[in-house]
Amino acid sequence: AMLGPAESTRRGPTPVHNPAVPATAYTPERIAAGIAAGEFVNVYQPKVRLADGEVTGVETLVRWQHPTDGLVMPSQFIELAEEHGLIDPLTRTILVNALEQGKRWRLEGRELHVAVNISMESLSTLEFPDFVAAMVRAAGIPPHLLVLEVTESRLMKNPLAVLDVLTRMRLKHVGLSIDDFGTGHSSLAQLRDIPFDELKVDRRFVHQAHADSATRTILEASLGIARQLGMRSVAEGVELQSDWDLLRELGCDVAQGYFVARPMPAAAFTKWFGEWETRRQALRPSVA
Ligand code: C2E
Ligand code: MG
Ligand code: MG
Ligand code: MG
Repeated sequence: AMLGPAESTRRGPTPVHNPAVPATAYTPERIAAGIAAGEFVNVYQPKVRLADGEVTGVETLVRWQHPTDGLVMPSQFIELAEEHGLIDPLTRTILVNALEQGKRWRLEGRELHVAVNISMESLSTLEFPDFVAAMVRAAGIPPHLLVLEVTESRLMKNPLAVLDVLTRMRLKHVGLSIDDFGTGHSSLAQLRDIPFDELKVDRRFVHQAHADSATRTILEASLGIARQLGMRSVAEGVELQSDWDLLRELGCDVAQGYFVARPMPAAAFTKWFGEWETRRQALRPSVA
């Protein structure tokens, strides 16, 4: 039988942020010390093809494994890190870990895309493409297996530098994904100017789209733009069977969300791959 959303959200470790800790408790100094102490870790969330349930890749998401506060979520520290020049060292850590993990999966015979979130801050640094290319080479994986997920930010100071950096990443065959599409931070102008491979529809246009016609219209329009521009479409925030069913009906390429799996440590994937194989049969009985 198909597993409902409640069951699917219960699988795997469910890291919970300690809400007793106020956001103001985190300072640039504490973040810098945490980076130096290796307290920032990667979790991974699968991206699966809607047509047949094949796992095509993962997105890595940062967590702060704080010695006393527990697992701290990105909303508590990413903006601070961006504003205080700490995002580059943080990105370096997350990228190195993700590439190493991608290499491990590849050695196990799983050719997965590994997507890393990159702040626009980092993309105005002209050294960025060579830095990424060097790390990809060091990891020994083909560059197209790395995907950079970018969201436009209010902090974007130098759009021309960003365009230059992204174009050079593209020339190095690194995949480019426009994240949170439709939110106003990821705009149509970006789509026209930057050669993205993948469009990620923001979760506010995905979850419950079947129940709200305006939401559904925006979802369909976004998928149409991706298709006509020759980009892979990804829906984030797929929480329900009904979200999944609608996306498949609309011809969306890839789904990501709690319906498939919560973000989890790499070590949890070995078990999850097996569980998903079983669930996948139930989702699409015609696929062996
Ligand atoms: P994002 O890149 O759009 O990542 C998706 C967020 O949605 C993640 O939150 C993920 O845990 C959450 N999510 C996944 N599936 C579902 C679902 O079905 N329902 C709901 N409600 N949420 C879901 P998270 O991990 O808290 O990250 C939030 C944001 O922080 C990310 O949004 C990204 O913009 C940023 N971020 C995360 N890791 C990094 C990083 O390593 N570097 C940078 N620069 N930003 C990061
Ligand atoms: Mg992302
Ligand atoms: Mg997103
Ligand atoms: Mg989002």
